[in-house]
Amino acid sequence: MQEAHADDGPEREQLRVGPARAATLIRTETFPAVPGQHCRDCTFVSICPAKGAGSVTVQ
Ligand code: SF4
Repeated sequence: MQEAHADDGPEREQLRVGPARAATLIRTETFPAVPGQHCRDCTFVSICPAKGAGSVTVQ
């Protein structure tokens, strides 16, 4: 059991920032490739601009 975070605390701000950023990316249809541990299971590695495949989808 953990204590509730303060309404004006840094934890609440972090919880607000994440969904707000996600909403902005979705509304602007911006989906940047962000490399990380999750790449090891990704099926798009062969066409990923962040993993060295380059701009294979850009004409
Ligand atoms: S390989 Fe590219 S598209 Fe796949 S998870 Fe990693 S950054 Fe995202």
